[in-house]
Amino acid sequence: MNLFDYVRPASIAEAVAAASEPGAAYLAAGTNLLDLMKGGAMRPSRLVDITRLPGLAKVETLPDGGVSIGAMVRNADLARDVDFATAYPAVAEALLSGASPQLRNAATVGGNLMQRTRCAYFYDAASACNRRDPGAGCDALGGENRSHAVLGWSDACIATHPSDFCVPLVALDAVVEIEGVNGSREMPLEEFLLLPGTTPEREHALETGEMIIALRLPRDAATFRSHARYLKLRERTSFAFALVSAAAALRIEDGTIVAARLSLGGVAARPWRARAAEAALEGSAPTTEAFARAADLALADARPSGDNAFKIELAKRVVTRAFLLASTGTPDRMPALPASAFSSDTGVTHHA
Ligand code: SF4
Repeated sequence: MNLFDYVRPASIAEAVAAASEPGAAYLAAGTNLLDLMKGGAMRPSRLVDITRLPGLAKVETLPDGGVSIGAMVRNADLARDVDFATAYPAVAEALLSGASPQLRNAATVGGNLMQRTRCAYFYDAASACNRRDPGAGCDALGGENRSHAVLGWSDACIATHPSDFCVPLVALDAVVEIEGVNGSREMPLEEFLLLPGTTPEREHALETGEMIIALRLPRDAATFRSHARYLKLRERTSFAFALVSAAAALRIEDGTIVAARLSLGGVAARPWRARAAEAALEGSAPTTEAFARAADLALADARPSGDNAFKIELAKRVVTRAFLLASTGTPDRMPALPASAFSSDTGVTHHA
């Protein structure tokens, strides 16, 4: 039995103060944290329960045309928000492709960013893991690693970030709003999630006590609404993490791509934005050949970290297919199997 304090603050200021003690962790839905605590992979000395803090469960359109999503908005509520899903269809599709309905009903937007890798060695307290226990080594190197990273990995850690939601968010330049004892700050989500380098135990940019307040999508993000898809390859059709996924978004005018966005999931310790691929598409016609060239560019720096060379070719095909789907237009209705290569567009959730 691991003893820990349980604190339920009444305000954000109280929460930040309570979490500024080393070893403290915020508790939202707990869909990942409580599993990790039960398995002994995380042992916080204090849980700061933020589930009843006021004002954090709102989705608000901003005066500049962007949108703010409170950290305590539930994944299912955001995905089923018709205005949100209409403006940011790839984000809604990614949300509905993740986990199970029960988990999506509970899991929060802020928690989705903070979830830990699903590397099996990280969860097994008897295995060596630099991310859980700095300096211990990495049993995934040379172990069971076919789902591990092919981009941005290091000799210290080859794990991937498990989120679907974060993949289109990175493609659309989402910003994380943060509150701490020294006040507020914000940063791009792409920079918020860290690559392992020599310090894989540092997974995000939060300092001790800092808390995610909201996510923000800029006005520009909604301009991709007509041609935006999320495509996810996994080992079973539901309740599975991505082997490889891609968020692809296009702005097409008079048959020419004028802007492209691409981010890959399942390939690195954070969603992998592929700017060279985006730039190569701008000014092109939306053809299979152009998308295949973009896919080659997106994976140009990829290298296997173990038994996972197949993921590089798989990722190229997912990118090409995601752009092809996006180029044919965002479906009016959410696909019956969101983000699935086998989906039809006969689902019941309206985008428009
Ligand atoms: Fe730990 Fe990373 Fe190695 Fe997995 S890949 S065992 S998370 S250090």
